[in-house]
Amino acid sequence: MKKKIIYIDMDGVISDFSKAKSEHLLSKQSPYKGRPDRIPNIYRDLEPIKDAIESVNKIINNESFELFFLSTPPWDNPDAWMHKRIWIEKYFGKKARHKLILSARKDLNIGDFLIDDSKYRGQPNFQGEWLEFGSERFPNWEAVLSYLKID
Ligand SMILES: [Mg+2]
Repeated sequence: MKKKIIYIDMDGVISDFSKAKSEHLLSKQSPYKGRPDRIPNIYRDLEPIKDAIESVNKIINNESFELFFLSTPPWDNPDAWMHKRIWIEKYFGKKARHKLILSARKDLNIGDFLIDDSKYRGQPNFQGEWLEFGSERFPNWEAVLSYLKID
């Protein structure tokens, strides 16, 4: 059986950038006010979103799916590109090797599902199904797994 390709966004879906942003001392200071994505090392120690690690592991361990992480790192914070790679290994270990894709055009990736909370990086034009994380239909990981028929 052909595996279904599933892409998982990072910030707002598995890593809690929003919480780090609101709690970070530099986020209200110049030059980071309004540009929290430029705060040094902010992407390195993000807390996981509720149920995200367990849910992603369930997908990884499911024979019907092949999973990739598909994230748009901030162009003006090159360290964040590295920190995303480190974050993925921290939570998913060696099995995440070669599974991280960094792109600002998510519609260009071919696949069956995209789990993403944003619509500004090509998500609405993704050729497979875009599951808008945080929306009324997919408010959390429980709803996503239920839709994918994974338990
Ligand atoms: Mg996101």
